[in-house]
Amino acid sequence: MTEEQTIFHKIIQGKIKADIIYQDKYLMAIKDINPQSPVHILIIPKTYIPNSNYINKTNKKLFGYMFYIAIKIAKKIKIDKDGYRIILNCNKNAGQEIFYLHIHLLGGKNLGTLLNNK
Ligand code: AMP
Repeated sequence: MTEEQTIFHKIIQGKIKADIIYQDKYLMAIKDINPQSPVHILIIPKTYIPNSNYINKTNKKLFGYMFYIAIKIAKKIKIDKDGYRIILNCNKNAGQEIFYLHIHLLGGKNLGTLLNNK
């Protein structure tokens, strides 16, 4: 899939509507269209990166910044005290659906344990 074909690229370009929570020069945070918890926000860089396998020396600061903003949003919407989960899916074993780097911020309820899927 090319950059032009990914839905997140179209959202970044403003060609497809999204519920935007936050944006700046480097990234955008939107509500997930199919939320898995009361809070389900996606943090998407404005520069195209297919997935975390493409994090390198040049873009590693942006990767850190995505997590920084996710945590800042968690604090702003006050899910930080109760807790939240940040998820990153990479390729098929993790079920990555959209090949445009993004992280999921989940919260607003007890999310259970992640390790019940052994
Ligand atoms: P992943 O499996 O990590 O690639 O997750 C892709 C996520 O994008 C899923 O949670 C989808 O519900 C979400 N998604 C797909 N299309 C849209 C859209 N147009 N706006 C917001 N979220 C979307």
